[in-house]
Amino acid sequence: MTDTIFGKITRGEIPTDFLYEDELCVVIKDLYPQAPTHVLIIPRKPIPMLSEAAEDDQALLGHLLIVAGKVADQLGVGDAFRLVINNGEGGGQTVFHLHLHILASGDMKEGDLAAGLSR
Ligand code: AMP
Repeated sequence: MTDTIFGKITRGEIPTDFLYEDELCVVIKDLYPQAPTHVLIIPRKPIPMLSEAAEDDQALLGHLLIVAGKVADQLGVGDAFRLVINNGEGGGQTVFHLHLHILASGDMKEGDLAAGLSR
């Protein structure tokens, strides 16, 4: 697959502050935040998109969800956040290295965040 900016970030080739990291993933702030809290959970493994994940990735995908909950907690939004995965160009994906968006604002009942992410 083609390398992406997230491949370079996860490999440490582009200096980036990690809000969290472990052997499987890193968490960074989104460069163009669409909500007061907007961070990205990026697996070190460069899976291009969710629909290309394999059975072997099951544990990794579960891990990313667990990390999402922990990081949201650390950021003080543990009981009010939205998790988004854009899949494919038609799904609004722009960086073809799987990542999860954690989004949180004062009021997660509104649909504006979801609309913003499907640009
Ligand atoms: P998606 O549209 O789901 O592929 O999301 C890609 C996200 O990556 C967008 O929200 C961008 O703002 C964000 N982004 C792109 N480049 C960087 C970067 N160098 N550091 C942090 N976030 C980035």
